[in-house]
Amino acid sequence: MEIREFQEMIGRIYERRDRERGKEKTMLWIVEEVGELSQAVRKDNLRNIGEEMADVFAWLVSLANLYNIDLENEVKKKYPGYCLRCGKAVCECDTS
Ligand SMILES: [Mg+2]
Ligand SMILES: [Zn+2]
Repeated sequence: MEIREFQEMIGRIYERRDRERGKEKTMLWIVEEVGELSQAVRKDNLRNIGEEMADVFAWLVSLANLYNIDLENEVKKKYPGYCLRCGKAVCECDTS
């Protein structure tokens, strides 16, 4: 599944509810799920880490739908297959 297909799927299932909730409350849900991911990482719970990553991503996609942002397009612009800073296919930027 491409990112765009995933975004369309999330939109079909949740966009009506997402619009009722609104952008700011949807943003709060992203923060909530990032908090859950942070907890899972702290506990080093591998299964939960994967699940919480999925939650963070799904809520991010919901927010993108509310802004009519094509997330696949945005990702490909910023991450075109090489590092935008050093221009290398395998980043050679300073770690700082
Ligand atoms: Mg969660
Ligand atoms: Zn780089």
